[in-house]
Amino acid sequence: MQSISVAVPIPFLDLLTYRVPEHLELPSIGARVRVPVGTRTVTGCVVEHGVNGHAPEGLKDIGEVLDREPFLPPNVVDLCRWVADYYLAGIGDAIAAAMPPGARNKASSFRTRRVASLTAHGMAAAQDPAADHLSKNQRRALEALHGVTSLALSDLRERGITSDVVTRLAARGLVTLRGEADERDPFERSVLAGYVHDATRRLTTEQADAFAQLGTLADSREFRVALLHGVTGSGKTEIYARLADQVRQQGRQTLLMVPEIALTPSVAALFRQAFGDRVAIQHSALSDGERHDQWHRIRRGDVDVVVGTRSAVFVPLSRLGLIVVDEEHDTSYKQEEAPRYHGRDVAVVRAQRERALVVLGSATPSMETYQHAENGKYARATLARRVLDRPLAAVSIVNMREEYKDEGPDVVISRALAAAIEDRLTRREQVLVLLNRRGYATAVLCRQCGDTFECPNCTISLTVHTARSGWRARCHYCNYSTMVPKACRKCAAPYLEHAGFGTERVEQHLRDRFPDARIGRVDRDSVRRKGALTSLLSRFAAGDLDVLVGTQMIAKGHDFPRVTLVGVISADVGLGLADFRAAERTFQLLTQVAGRAGRGERTGEAIVQTLYPEHYSIQLACRQDYPAFFEKELIYRRTMRYPPAMALVNAVVRGRSFDEAMQTATDLVRRLEPASALGGFLILGPAPAPLMRLRGEHRVQFFMKGTRRADMRLALKAVLAEMPDVRRRVTVDVDPLSVL
Ligand code: ADP
Ligand code: ZN
Repeated sequence: MQSISVAVPIPFLDLLTYRVPEHLELPSIGARVRVPVGTRTVTGCVVEHGVNGHAPEGLKDIGEVLDREPFLPPNVVDLCRWVADYYLAGIGDAIAAAMPPGARNKASSFRTRRVASLTAHGMAAAQDPAADHLSKNQRRALEALHGVTSLALSDLRERGITSDVVTRLAARGLVTLRGEADERDPFERSVLAGYVHDATRRLTTEQADAFAQLGTLADSREFRVALLHGVTGSGKTEIYARLADQVRQQGRQTLLMVPEIALTPSVAALFRQAFGDRVAIQHSALSDGERHDQWHRIRRGDVDVVVGTRSAVFVPLSRLGLIVVDEEHDTSYKQEEAPRYHGRDVAVVRAQRERALVVLGSATPSMETYQHAENGKYARATLARRVLDRPLAAVSIVNMREEYKDEGPDVVISRALAAAIEDRLTRREQVLVLLNRRGYATAVLCRQCGDTFECPNCTISLTVHTARSGWRARCHYCNYSTMVPKACRKCAAPYLEHAGFGTERVEQHLRDRFPDARIGRVDRDSVRRKGALTSLLSRFAAGDLDVLVGTQMIAKGHDFPRVTLVGVISADVGLGLADFRAAERTFQLLTQVAGRAGRGERTGEAIVQTLYPEHYSIQLACRQDYPAFFEKELIYRRTMRYPPAMALVNAVVRGRSFDEAMQTATDLVRRLEPASALGGFLILGPAPAPLMRLRGEHRVQFFMKGTRRADMRLALKAVLAEMPDVRRRVTVDVDPLSVL
């Protein structure tokens, strides 16, 4: 008798073991099976075979086996097991991350469409006007099908020929009907229009050197990791494409990971042009149907290259030779829900298992990656200059404390920035204006009693947005929203004031100031409608907008050659956060956004407004001096014992009351102390989390800090296993990116 271990799509559950009844064949690893869990039947995935002949007593039987062949290939099942183990996630959650949409349904196959084609008999009839007493419509159908391989019934219907007519022809043996896979092609969307890839272009000397170096690593067919450290506009994408081509010629495949496809359409477009329909695309903005189709193309081995976002790290490729992680420092590679994995780090693990090369590309590498390059664990290729000797943008700082002194406290745009915008508008050049904070105002404040307008569910002040009906206050964490009242809720005084400002206010300010300029805004609020982001970006690319205001979304890898000015409204937005990565984020954001200027023939300029002109992250970003930033930041991380000097695990305990959460957290910490005393790690806390209340729950957190990550993970795992009812109230984050 045989048993199998199955991952089921239920949070926090470990593998479940079942018996395979005599009349069923042993399903393969990666196959989907229907299994009973409690009173339900769910679709799970086979992860392990039990030892033959030793199925323990009392096991439940599996139900139906959905796949003869593995649905998920074994290499992906293994990767999911690693993810579940490393990130302390449920195996079911990890497997779910790798599944295409609709995989839990019994028949996960192509949506088919019905197509008709002529039989030999039908072909003869089509050519014989006197044939077989055909009706007028039947004759028209035969004519339409004559000379083509087949036509979809939907196409025939558009020509006024109903499926009834076709069915009758089929009954007479003149036509055959069959189902044909209807593959949707997400590349056909206009996102990718307008980019031209010139395959004959010559690489610059720097590009050629980097390509040769990385190409040798790819040829070795060994696991290697390389950092491609190239300043903004140095032509990294071109190198990725050539490496992918080299790998393809050896019969192996490439996975290109990008932070957000809609924000970097040029990368996807270049790959599409270079590899035609041998490219598949995987990201969450695709419809379920599209994702499903693309996934099955990959699974069948029909592609050489996959372009995708973080979840693409699980795509079912079987001959992987290269993984490129573009903009590897980008925080969107980290999934902030279970399983809380980092796409870049999982990519490295996957490459190790499949003996592939990983190229991590960035102008502003993460501290972790750069440190590995410094100590020789990763290879490194450097592009120190922009292509065609274009200079980097000249960056200047405006000290806003002085601006306020001269111009009053309500200044949004400094004199220097306003003059520069005016100048670009007259020269018909384009401008990007960055403020990494959305909304109109960041707080509502009563001038009489000082009451602020907080979210009833979260410890955070509500953000004010402009709405058709007036001012609306919204929580950016739980989405609670309400109209801003005319008077204070506490003291009834009618002196409510908007404090702080976000992108909506900047947009309005620019409209008032430059009434003739065509201005667009890109942030989470303005692009909520499907297609809105694409439309804004392509209007800007086409020159139909002069100024684009936005959050960090405009700082990513865009290539708009007509942008010659980048303005940063408050460079220090992120510096106030109680987050050890605040300086790194600020440095990256400023360097990246300055990198959007001057990518065409005309030189670029960036103007940075800040209250802290002397802060090193701002100073060094303005000089675009990455190595100096790394040195300085590393000293701080070492002193404070933060990553990459140490590894970090964060646990947040949620509770109905603060006391409940605190008690549970204290209990957990107490149980961890014996392991900590053995010297593997330190425990900090428990303490109230910076966001003390979130979505109505109270939150208490603690940290584990140490150099031996495995010790921390194992200790925490063991403790949580002792307390199964507590498990679902604890959010564990291994290698957290954000500790709010
Ligand atoms: P990065 O990703 O390093 O910021 P991109 O790959 O976007 O840079 O390249 C910047 C610009 O330079 C793009 O418009 C690209 O088409 C162009 N480019 C890249 N390589 C070359 C080259 N060898 N010759 C001319 N133009 C190039
Ligand atoms: Zn809230």
